[in-house]
Order: sequence, then structure tokens, then C-alpha cells
Amino acid sequence: MSLPPEQPPEPRIPLGHGATFAPRFASGDGPDYDNVLACIRCGLCLSVCPTYATDGVEVQSPRGRVALIRAWQEGRLELSPNLRDHMYHCLDCRACQTICPTGVRVGELVLGARAVAESQRRRGAVAGALAGFSLRWLLPHPDRLEASLVPLRLYQRLGLQRLVRGSGALRLLPGPLAEMEGLLPQLPGRPLRQELPEVVPTSGVRRYRVGFFLGCVMTLVFARSSRATVDVLTANACEVVTPKEQVCCGAPHTEEGEFEEVRALARRNIDVFESLGVDYIVADCAACGAQTKEYAHLLCDDPAYAERARAFSAKVRDISEFLVGIPLRRPLGAVPRQVAYHMPCHLAHAQKVREAPRQLLRLVPGLQLMKLNEDDWCCGSAGIYNISHAGRADKILARKMDNLRESRADTVVTGNPGCLLQLQAGVRGRGWATDVRHPMELLAESYRGGAGEQLPPLDGEKVRIDSGSPTD
Ligand code: SF4
Ligand code: SF4
Repeated sequence: MSLPPEQPPEPRIPLGHGATFAPRFASGDGPDYDNVLACIRCGLCLSVCPTYATDGVEVQSPRGRVALIRAWQEGRLELSPNLRDHMYHCLDCRACQTICPTGVRVGELVLGARAVAESQRRRGAVAGALAGFSLRWLLPHPDRLEASLVPLRLYQRLGLQRLVRGSGALRLLPGPLAEMEGLLPQLPGRPLRQELPEVVPTSGVRRYRVGFFLGCVMTLVFARSSRATVDVLTANACEVVTPKEQVCCGAPHTEEGEFEEVRALARRNIDVFESLGVDYIVADCAACGAQTKEYAHLLCDDPAYAERARAFSAKVRDISEFLVGIPLRRPLGAVPRQVAYHMPCHLAHAQKVREAPRQLLRLVPGLQLMKLNEDDWCCGSAGIYNISHAGRADKILARKMDNLRESRADTVVTGNPGCLLQLQAGVRGRGWATDVRHPMELLAESYRGGAGEQLPPLDGEKVRIDSGSPTD
């Protein structure tokens, strides 16, 4: 009697469909199926993913997230609260995109998946009201944003913050409130938007007319840093134009998959900056820079804005990227500090600007750059991740702080407000004296120490500014 032919075993990991398959939600803001298919499951990305390093499970890795999205698109998985949560566990740090050999854009795929999940979601009354309040009522309106911080400023001025922190009452606050309070730094007396003249002239002959994209958190919380950015620009032959009508870049809305809101904000910013006749648009917030560089892609199907969005995004530069591409005055005053540079994910991975800030810091006399291990590893801030996923964010921050301690730096610098907040909280929580600064603050401090000779553009950064169009 002959035995039946042996059947091949069922594959343990379903291989899924191929390029000819018609997937779900492959158009619009949903995940790009072709890019999903580009994942060859090599696992290289696992070594750089902070959530995989923290949790050690496949679904918390870039490869796992791509597999989930693919199964969902191919109908092998249905949207569930669990699947939605998995999409929000990603930090969108994009470290996986830097290392992926086949160009899988995992962070972007996850944002696309969030957009689909949100479009199919029936939020409860409270959650819906909160999202509507923050994303649609508050963030797009600078005046309302500024007014919303008045109670917090009073809370600090009246000494209540000292009382709350000193008495241990923080532990009595519900989770997210305690996290938010723990992140709150000393607020400036007034938002920079209210103080900064719309046009700040250069002290010498004008070479460039630069539009300043003043981010929401920068004006409200890190006014000193953005003031330093303006000072560095004007010290380098730039006239700085900061229109008061500009609005939020849309980064918070992107993280929540609210792409229509982002497009509305993008159109408003394009309208505002277009009329200014600026040579470049400079951001000192890595998240704003990354987001505004995306306007061209976001509005590519809008007949009225596609070309204008391309022109807008082509002018956007991170402040460090801009400065290394123009003839620079040499900073002269000594800034005797031992400095570690933490790379913001939205600068290093999203914009691919990695060396420019360090190139600038090396010019400062007396400043010693210290080695920071894993300098491009996320700090755990990631928008509101440190509030919504506080436990995991704390573990990710702990790894950063261990590296910072080993660097023996007395100052850590970084060019993104979320990272500044997170690192400040890390330093405060450990009782360290480490100073947390934006790179422009150290550069401005050095410029205040004297007027130097003019240097040619620095070399070495991938993204260079073209010869430009000096306005004078
Ligand atoms: S996302 Fe890229 S690096 Fe990660 S497993 Fe897929 S192909 Fe490899
Ligand atoms: S974006 Fe960051 S957190 Fe998300 S999968 Fe990639 S490396 Fe992991």
C-alpha cells in the first residue's frame, strides 16, 4: 500500500500577497502598499528601534509593525482596539528608516495606518471633545494657545509649582496630569511671538532675507532659544522676518493621523510666507522643519497649492543646515563648557541633518564636544509619547541619561523642543546640575563675545544650501 504524498507544512509566518494584489486603503493617506512590500524581513531595523529594545517583542519592532499593516491591508487582520494601540506604540522616531536597506519608511507607514484607524474610529464623547479641542480649536490659533498658558504662568509665579513639587502632592495627581506637570519647565514672561518685531534687520550688509518659522513650543516655552536663533542670523548678514500670522506646522496633527487638518495648516502657512519675498525659511525646531519640508508631498494633489507647496518646502532649512551653507562670521567669545550633542530624531532621521549642529559647535572657542554614545537614539519625548506612554518613555529616557552620564558633559544641547523638555525632566528627576540648551544659545553667547572674521561655508553636511540669491 502506498503512503499519501507528504503535504508541505503550513508556513508559520504567512507570506501574504504580492504586488498584483489589490490591498485595502492603499490610496489617499493610508499606508503605501508598495512600500510595505519592500520589507524583506531582514531584521536590521530591530537593532535601532527603541520600543523593540525596551519590550523585546516582535510587534514592538519596525518589522513587526510592517507585518501588522500588511496583514491588515491584505484582509488577514481586522482593525481592533489592539491593532490601533500597536500603531500608537511607535515613537515615529524613524531610526528604522535610516538603517533599512530596502527603503521601507516604517514611521510614515505607521502614520498612514493611524490615519485609516482614526477615520474608522467612533470616539467616545469625552475623547472626541478633547481631540477636537486640542487639535482643531486650540493648536491652529496662536492667540488661544498663548492665552491657555496664562494659568500655568500664574501657577509658577505664585509659587504653587514649588509647593506641589516640594510637598510630594504630584503623586496624588492622575497619571497624565502628573506627567505633564513633571515636564513643565520655567515659562518665559511672555511668548516670543509677542516680543519679536516682525522684521529684525542685520547689523551689517544684508545678504539674505530669511523667514523664521517660529514653532508653537519654541515661542511659548523656549523663547530664549529662539531669540538666540534670531541673534545668530542677524549676526550673519540675515534680515529675519517672523510673520505673526503663521500657525502651527501640523506636526501634532500628523502624529494623530489628522492629515486634512495638517493640509489646512500648511495652506495657511504657505499663504503667509509666500508674500514675504524671503530667500529661505528657517526653523530652529526639528519637528517643525521636518513637517514643513513635507508640505510639498502633502499638497501634491491640490491643484491650487501643489506648485506653491513645492516652492515653500524647497526653501525650508533647519537653522544648523542653513548656517553651515552660508559664509559665517567666526564666533569669538569663549564658552567654556563640556558639551554633549543629542540628535533630535526629526533632524537626524527625518531631515537627515546629522553633522551640521556639531560643525557649528566646534567653531566656538573653549567649547569641548564630548562623545555621547547612541547620540541619535530617541530620548522618549516623541510628541506626547512621554505622556501617553509614560512608562515606556521613562525607560527610553533612562538609556539616554545613562549615556549622558558616561559622556561627562556639563551641558547637553539639542535642537528640538520636545527633546529639550524631555532631557530637562531627566536631569531634574535625577537631581543633576547638567545644563540643557539649544545649540543656538551657545552660538549666540559666543557671538556676543566679539566680532570675528568671515568664514567660508562649512563642508561635510550632505544637505547643502545652493549659492542662494542674495537680496542685496
Ligand atoms: S523594515 Fe527594512 S530593515 Fe526592517 S526588516 Fe523590513 S527590510 Fe529589514
Ligand atoms: S519609527 Fe522608531 S519606534 Fe517606530 S518602528 Fe521605527 S525605530 Fe521603532
